[in-house]
Order: sequence, then C-alpha cells, then structure tokens
Amino acid sequence: SYENLAGRTAVVTGAASGIGEAVAVTLAAQGARVALLARRAERLEAGVEKIRADGGQALAVAADVTDDASVAAAVERIHEAYGTVDLVVNNAGVMLPNPIEAARVDEWQRMIDTNVTGVLRVTGAFAEDLTEAAAQGRSADLVNVSSIAAHLTGFPGFAVYGATKAAVTHLSAMLRDEFGPRDVRVTNIEPGVTETEIVSHLADGMQEQVGGMMEAFGALAAGELADVVAYVTSRPRHVNLRQIMVLPTRQV
Ligand code: NDP
Repeated sequence: SYENLAGRTAVVTGAASGIGEAVAVTLAAQGARVALLARRAERLEAGVEKIRADGGQALAVAADVTDDASVAAAVERIHEAYGTVDLVVNNAGVMLPNPIEAARVDEWQRMIDTNVTGVLRVTGAFAEDLTEAAAQGRSADLVNVSSIAAHLTGFPGFAVYGATKAAVTHLSAMLRDEFGPRDVRVTNIEPGVTETEIVSHLADGMQEQVGGMMEAFGALAAGELADVVAYVTSRPRHVNLRQIMVLPTRQV
C-alpha cells in the first residue's frame, strides 16, 4: 500500500479500459477520489461500480479529449463533484500504425489530436488546479503516459505513433520548467508492451505482429503500470521521478 494517496483528487483520462482503468482502480483503492474520463460512458460506469463496490470513491465523466467543449464540460462536472484536482493522469491515447505510403492523413491526425493535443488540452484545463493545490501545501502531480515507442526504431508502420509519444516525452520534460518551480511534479512514464485492448483496435496484419511480440516478450499487465503511477505520486512532495521506462524483462 502507498501512503499519501488518501484524500487526493485524481482525474484519469482513457480510464474506460487498459492502463487507465487499472490506474483509476489502484488510486481509488489507496483512498483517492477518482474521476474516470473517456468516451464510452457504459465502460466508465462499469469501472466506477467496481471501485464503489470495493468502498472507493469514483465518478464517471464521459468526454472526448480531442474536443474543447467536451473537456470544458468535464472540468465543470469534476469541480462540482470533487473541487480542486491535485493529480492528473494523461493516459488516453490511440495507436493506429500504418505504412507511410498509405498516406492515412486521417489516422495520423487522430493520433496527433488524441495523443498530443489531447494531452495538452487536459493539462491546460487542470493547470490552475495543480498549482493551486501545490500552493496550499498539497501534493500535486501531472503524470503523462508516453511509450517506449518515443525512442525505439525497428517497428515499420509506427513512425507517426512514435512521433506523438516522443512529443509527449519532450512536453513532459519541458513542462517541468513551468510546474516544478511551483511544486507541481511532472512524471513521464514510458511503458513497453502491455496487455490491453489497444491491440484489438489494430488492423488485421498489425494485430498478429503486435500480438506475437506480446507473447514473445511476456507483456506487462495494466495493473503493473498502475503500481508505478501509485508509487511516483505517493513520494514526499519534493521528490519527483521525472522519467520512467517500464519494460517487460524480455523486451530489448
Ligand atoms: P486502451 O485502448 O485500452 O486504452 C486507451 C483509452 O483511451 C481507452 O480507455 C479509450 O476509451 C481512451 N481514449 C481514446 N481516445 C480518447 C479520446 N479521444 N478521449 C478520451 N478518451 C479516449 O489501451 P492502453 O491501456 O494500452 O493505452 C493507454 C495508454 O498507454 C495510451 O496512451 C497508449 O498509447 C499507452 N501505451 C500502451 C502500451 C501498450 O502496449 N498497451 C505501451 C506503451 C504505451 P474510449 O474509447 O472510451 O474513449
């Protein structure tokens, strides 16, 4: 168990499944109040039910991180229910690998809108909350879920996805310049292959490629990433783990 998480107020994006859902469940189990944000309302409600059944506090907030009005409405809803947010996990993301010659500008744009602009939109929306919480002497955290794809090569078709994650990693580093001096921690987490439904959203050929890789590496479980989020956000407030790669041992 982790100290210092009881009484925190968290928002987790992409909490309808996979890593985000696991993060929400773990933070709630440690006593945080958690707003679960994603587009699929019924999946969020299922997560909230699970948390509440275990005695935790959670709120389902259906919203699309690519949409200004949707995020603004979500912020209002969360403020009404929980007040100032002190822990934001930018986890929502999409992975749509495709060969460059296919020129899938639509899919490139979706990845950029979700993985980069979505992270910025949510960060901007809660920036005041985080600095306000820190000014009151509370712990305040921004956690961005990037990917090992920010660094790796050797995965044909993943150039644009990797570029969006490299952007997240660099944003995390540079946002510390703004947040750090105001006692808001910024942590960038780069997972390796993790078993979630992200693979089921891939096109057929790609599904086999990534599925095979998961089997060969022994993919991480979403809960193992959630543990990392709970660890970094529960350190004493002057300790900021700013950059963490988490890989299956066999993934080289
Ligand atoms: P999932 O597909 O299970 O989770 C992605 C989540 O993001 C879903 O809950 C989805 O819910 C939500 N989401 C997608 N688009 C939007 C949007 N526009 N607005 C709000 N929510 C959205 O996959 P993972 O759990 O694997 O992915 C979580 C993060 O981890 C992603 O950023 C991914 O890139 C990253 N990652 C994953 C790795 C892996 O191997 N699985 C490795 C490295 C990084 P909904 O559709 O309901 O909106």
